[in-house]
Amino acid sequence: MNGPGRDVSARSGGCVQVRGARERNLKNVDVDIPRDVIVAFTGVSGSGKSSLAFGTLFAEAQRRYLDSVTPFARRLIEQVGAPEVDLITGLPPAVALEQRRGPPSARSTVATLTHVGDTLRLLYSRCGARAPGSPALEASGFSAHTPEGACPACHGLGVAYEVSEHTLVPDETLTIRQRAIAAWPPAWHGQNLREILVSIGIDVDVPWRDLPEAQRRWVLFTDEQPTVPVYPGLSPVEMRQAISERRPGSYQGTFSSARHYLLQTFATTHSASIRRRVARYLVRARCTACGGCGLRPEALAVTVRGMDIASVMALAIRDAKCHLESVREGADPALRRLLEDLLPRLNTLCDLGLGYLPLDRPADTLSPGEHQRVRLATLLRSNLFGVVYVLDEPSAGLHPADTEPLLDALDHLRDGGNSVFVVEHDLDVVRRADWVVDIGPDAGEGGGQVLYSGPVEGLAAVSTSRTGRHLAARTPTVSHAPRAPRGWLELSDVHCHNLHGVDVRFPLSVFTCVTGVSGSGKTSLVGRALVELVGSLLDPPEADDDEVAELDDVLPHVAAASCTGRVVGELHGVVRLVAIDQKPIGRTPRSNLATYTGLFDSVRALFAATPLARALGYRAGRFSFNVASGRCPKCEGAGHVVVELMFLPSAEVVCPACRGRRYADDTLQVTWQGRNVADVLALSVDEAAKLFEGHLSIVAPLQALRRLGLGYLRLGQPATQLSGGEAQRIKLATELQRAPRGHTLYVLDEPTIGLHPSDVERLTSALHGLVDSGHTVVVIEHDMRVVSQSDWVIDLGPGAGDAGGTVVASGTPLALSRSKASRTAPYLRQVLT
Ligand code: ADP
Ligand code: ADP
Ligand code: ZN
Ligand code: ZN
Repeated sequence: MNGPGRDVSARSGGCVQVRGARERNLKNVDVDIPRDVIVAFTGVSGSGKSSLAFGTLFAEAQRRYLDSVTPFARRLIEQVGAPEVDLITGLPPAVALEQRRGPPSARSTVATLTHVGDTLRLLYSRCGARAPGSPALEASGFSAHTPEGACPACHGLGVAYEVSEHTLVPDETLTIRQRAIAAWPPAWHGQNLREILVSIGIDVDVPWRDLPEAQRRWVLFTDEQPTVPVYPGLSPVEMRQAISERRPGSYQGTFSSARHYLLQTFATTHSASIRRRVARYLVRARCTACGGCGLRPEALAVTVRGMDIASVMALAIRDAKCHLESVREGADPALRRLLEDLLPRLNTLCDLGLGYLPLDRPADTLSPGEHQRVRLATLLRSNLFGVVYVLDEPSAGLHPADTEPLLDALDHLRDGGNSVFVVEHDLDVVRRADWVVDIGPDAGEGGGQVLYSGPVEGLAAVSTSRTGRHLAARTPTVSHAPRAPRGWLELSDVHCHNLHGVDVRFPLSVFTCVTGVSGSGKTSLVGRALVELVGSLLDPPEADDDEVAELDDVLPHVAAASCTGRVVGELHGVVRLVAIDQKPIGRTPRSNLATYTGLFDSVRALFAATPLARALGYRAGRFSFNVASGRCPKCEGAGHVVVELMFLPSAEVVCPACRGRRYADDTLQVTWQGRNVADVLALSVDEAAKLFEGHLSIVAPLQALRRLGLGYLRLGQPATQLSGGEAQRIKLATELQRAPRGHTLYVLDEPTIGLHPSDVERLTSALHGLVDSGHTVVVIEHDMRVVSQSDWVIDLGPGAGDAGGTVVASGTPLALSRSKASRTAPYLRQVLT
């Protein structure tokens, strides 16, 4: 983007006129937005930026598009409703790039998202060298997701779940009776298997390691499932006697080897906790037949310049580009044409800083920011003209060094004759937009007005705008002397993704920021290695199911290949580990902040204690929309129902029976202070804090939420509607008002994503508060103002992927800003001076 002061009117091709926008919290807004330029939508979180950019402008463009293509769409539009707005004129067709992760489609990869995979398959089928006499393959024969291409051993999945003697029997000195086979089910089922072994004639009272090898293998791995009489309670001697006398057993028992039991249970159980328990004993291993690529041998036999298609897909994009460039020399015209399509696309991905990603990286392992940039790269090559691109915080997750090419990409879209609307918090991006629309002044009901719409320079003069204030003040207001660590937590020989034998020290009882360009290894070091290595030491050996559940939230990849490394010495008093991430607080619309923080339990108790509830015999459970007795039977408490439409994705509509209130009418006749339970769920946190004044167990979590700037959220807002940043702050608020439980290590991945600078200040001061109470905070962070106010910085890099993965520098922010080697240093210097 060019610097401030350019003439927008000269460039702009007219404007989008919005009249009477009332979507969500928008206050009957009128605004004119120029076309064919880059427009930043700013404002504190919850002020209504997305309601205008996505909820109104994009939704209306989408509605008009659907209306023009298919009559079926009309029914959909009638049911989901058009955005609340009187009139929009001058609106081009729109393409949205939201940050939210799409539904996890297990099989999509970087190659599929970018369509590079299709072209490569075509290239292999047309131009690949094959063994003489072998048949030519269609392009689909090079896809693991087609019957023609899939490896027969793993059905194209590339992975197989397996077990090893070591995980099944962690302690070989125990006997089977002493539960040597730890992987067996607990309680009765496990005892039953043991009794069956006695009937079969295996000695369950000698240490495991003293059993003959053949018996050990059979017990653990056999696929046989013999059925034998079982004599519970008899000693082995008595039982042998019973068997030889052919006395009938109490019942017939069927044996399953540990492997059979685990794989069977893992594949079929519906219980999440059983699945988790079983997963601990399984190792996810590469399929040995195809080496993990999921392709059948015939496909792998075809090569281009000596490489099969799976090997090319496994290359980082920049290496794949080099390889294919070398193929271009001396290629025939057919091959050349395909490469002319392919190479520029790979180039664009590299330009956006994604050259370190392998083409076969599963899409669900990409961060939301990487995902958005992959899609952006695809759009950049599509050469559309006259559309409006609506983007959600494109700079999220980017190191300042990575933001530059992103801005160039946005320029490119604009210069191609398009409008670019970005919802953005990063002031550096805002400063370089052509136009800014600022919404506020506050969040929720306190927001929803357009405070300013004009060239960026004018915003600083708008006194009501918090964005204006932050744009004017360049340097952080607070600076503190770095705290001194009270000890060091040392990790040694860490291997994870691009980290190869890293040694690193995290200071304790201070605030540490981990920095580095995208792909340098921050998440691998902090989100994986630190969390897993420390977590494994804190894991109580006899964890019960609840603890396992908690552990599982911390360790999302129990079954995935784990990181290795070790904690040197000890944990120096750290007794708890809490990873506060941006994952939803619940996977269904039935979770919300009231249920998550636990305050809803107290609310329901208040309702149950009212005279009417007692007279009717309604207990607290009645006031839960998850319990059949009290909820709306039509939508089962969801508040909405799903309508299926031919040819279109199914849509959710408000439940016609309860009109979205979720409860049965008889439940709603009970009121507390004039409100029924659905009314309470409709309150904002601010309103609820007033209503429940004096009820500590309700007000304490509400106050913690307000301090983090979440006073505008509604208690019953479904978890699925909350942004990642909101979910993360709800988790943090819940943590902040918990009783102290000893020295805790808090780990956060980019907590400032999606936050307005003034919300960033509240969040960081809450984190500093945790450190002041003696805890340790480690965050991955790109916002240099946050980094400048930390106590210690660990900078990874220098580059991404194989060009990264080392600790480039570490020290206080000031010391780090002087490092010659660090790519973060120049940006840190800018805010420190
Ligand atoms: P911003 O983009 O500025 O963070 P939003 O436009 O997302 O703000 O939200 C504006 C208001 O609308 C907030 O009070 C928010 O809680 C509410 N809101 C957001 N999403 C929804 C939704 N899907 N349904 C109803 N209200 C919503
Ligand atoms: P950062 O957090 O600094 O952006 P990451 O730790 O996410 O970096 O990534 C470091 C390297 O590890 C990159 O090359 C990335 O492609 C790779 N990587 C990250 N996650 C995975 C994964 N789930 N599977 C394979 N490789 C991964
Ligand atoms: Zn296979
Ligand atoms: Zn209903």
